[in-house]
Amino acid sequence: MSAIDQQLRHLNPEQRAAVTAIDGPVLVLAGAGSGKTRVITHKIAWLLDECQIPPERVAAVTFTNKAAREMKERVGRLIPAERAKRLIVSTFHTLGLRILREDYKLLGLKRNFSIFDAEDSRNLIRELLKGDNRDAQDVIDVVQWRISGWKSARVGAEQAVGLAENNQEVMAARIYGQYERHLLAYNAVDFDDLIAKPVMLFEDEPEARERWQNRFRYLLVDEYQDTNGAQYELLRQLTGVRAAFTVVGDDDQSIYAWRGAQPENLANLKNDFPNLKVVKLEQNFRSTSRILRVANTLIANNPHLFDKRLWSQRGEGDNVRIIPCKDGFGEAEQVVARILQHKMENGGSWGDYAILYRGNFQAKPFEKMLREHRIPYHISGGQSFFDRAEVKDLIAYLRLLANPDDDSAFLRIINVPRREVGATTLEKLGGYARERNVSLFSACLEFGLHHVLPARTASRLEEFAVWMGKLGEEAEHSDEPVAVARQLVEEVGYLDWLEETARDPKAFERRRDNIEELFGWMGNIAKRADGDISLTGILNHMSLMDMLDRSGDDPGDTVALMTLHAAKGLEFNHVYLVGMEEELLPHRNNLEGEGLEEERRLFYVGITRAQITLSLTYAKKRRRYGEDLDCTPSRFLEELPEDDLHWLGKTAEDPEQRKETGKTHVAGLRSLLAPET
Ligand code: ATP
Ligand code: MG
Repeated sequence: MSAIDQQLRHLNPEQRAAVTAIDGPVLVLAGAGSGKTRVITHKIAWLLDECQIPPERVAAVTFTNKAAREMKERVGRLIPAERAKRLIVSTFHTLGLRILREDYKLLGLKRNFSIFDAEDSRNLIRELLKGDNRDAQDVIDVVQWRISGWKSARVGAEQAVGLAENNQEVMAARIYGQYERHLLAYNAVDFDDLIAKPVMLFEDEPEARERWQNRFRYLLVDEYQDTNGAQYELLRQLTGVRAAFTVVGDDDQSIYAWRGAQPENLANLKNDFPNLKVVKLEQNFRSTSRILRVANTLIANNPHLFDKRLWSQRGEGDNVRIIPCKDGFGEAEQVVARILQHKMENGGSWGDYAILYRGNFQAKPFEKMLREHRIPYHISGGQSFFDRAEVKDLIAYLRLLANPDDDSAFLRIINVPRREVGATTLEKLGGYARERNVSLFSACLEFGLHHVLPARTASRLEEFAVWMGKLGEEAEHSDEPVAVARQLVEEVGYLDWLEETARDPKAFERRRDNIEELFGWMGNIAKRADGDISLTGILNHMSLMDMLDRSGDDPGDTVALMTLHAAKGLEFNHVYLVGMEEELLPHRNNLEGEGLEEERRLFYVGITRAQITLSLTYAKKRRRYGEDLDCTPSRFLEELPEDDLHWLGKTAEDPEQRKETGKTHVAGLRSLLAPET
């Protein structure tokens, strides 16, 4: 039997059909854990082995960098690692960046363009709104969200003005236009541009479109339900009339509507590609029957575009546990104690356990408790390393080195360490730069600045710019960006400054360690980079580690803590889904209508991560905004099938508790009889 036949044996007939269909577009539409991602990995192997397509001409798109990494690994087990390495497996954003890196000129960008992260974008919007005296947080939020929405829907600034329906939208559309002009002047793009710009390019430049279409012989997309309008368009343009692609998705797991995802894209495929082959998978290979029943019963409360049934052969399994807790602290205590006990009794590894929650802020008590018990854990998708002030400072310095027009980076570091450049100076500098249509950095080098600023200040700025310019040149010709970064930290006296401004010696050490870690990261990226170890290349890479997961390398054998959003596509033997309360899940901004449906899907995603056991916890009180607030158990708990649940710590004799949780007291009675593990 050939290697590839061996591999096909690990698929059921429907999966096999999806893998071997390569003549036209394929959509695999199926529920959680039915082996959609496995179809993608096996199909990649099939394309390489059976169809002899060179690996660099197959592109697979996943939702997070972490998923991309995993996919490469999984494919590496099916084909020689050497070939798997050349595969293109990335997120939509990284794919977009790849295109921009090659065709930046056609879009009016310079080679060393910067990528603005969400905070940079916000700061720019804040600046632009200042002119209107409207720089309140919530206005900034709305404008940012609007601009992002327009970009995802492929609406340009001029068009947005025409479409605006109320004053707020008119204002946002106007800021949008200015925002775009500023980005161009800064030689920068934002995250949405990484998709929107390639789409624009392909619309305007048929030559570029054809070149890229020929580059990729086959495209695969995982988690297709979460693509937005611009991403779908990118896919369409890249595949062209040949339409050699496979996408897999589950409309019940669409959890990014708030970021412009359009699950309708699933239905649209059928219209846009009449010869679309649709494959449905119905066997779930992940979870026990009980877990699956709980998931199916829950999601039946949502309206459905497509009918799906899921069954499992993994046995009935344990009831899904529901654990009421006194408060947030008690919840952490319960979960950690249970993990400890379970592991002691059953062996296994820490990596078998995951704690999932709605919002990152919920992680704190669990972290504390895990640390107290010396349990190794890792958090993905939280306030991350790359958001720390010292890390952002240094990255801003490096960005400015690579791209002197990056005003956002300039503003971040001009006073770090303190250079006594006050607000008035910055305003004058800004005015001068605007008048002359140059970047802040270039303005520092112009003699004319001496006419608008005191001589001493102007000289100081000039010195700074000259020094940066020199270092920038070295950086450009260096093939050791880390060495340049070290030199920068040294010359700028950054560590001394950190020490001066740190709260205490411990804080200083932590920050210094973070700087070291950043150098480590840069070194690793340089090592892994396929050929491009320029400073710009490394910076691009780092800004894309943002998005959903900025998690680094293999977390080893550790308990996983993450949000439900970050858990998509993953699986764990034992899952603790915590904070099952009204206003947490469902989130208080999403208590009705489509918002509520999205929260339900999010819960569905959480449930279906579990392979063997699932525990749901809620607290009766929770400390928020400095107050102990009473909490109500999530309405979703009442939507679950009682026969598959096991409520803990509740007795039918206790009228208080019965009142608290409404109809669940029946299950409470049952728990009296069920032996507790
Ligand atoms: P999700 O919707 O959560 O992304 P999915 O549909 O992508 O799930 P996979 O992650 O591909 O599902 O598969 C779920 C689990 O089932 C994995 O552990 C996978 O290895 C296993 N699996 C998939 N297909 C088969 C099969 N044919 N035989 C045995 N195990 C399988
Ligand atoms: Mg998957």
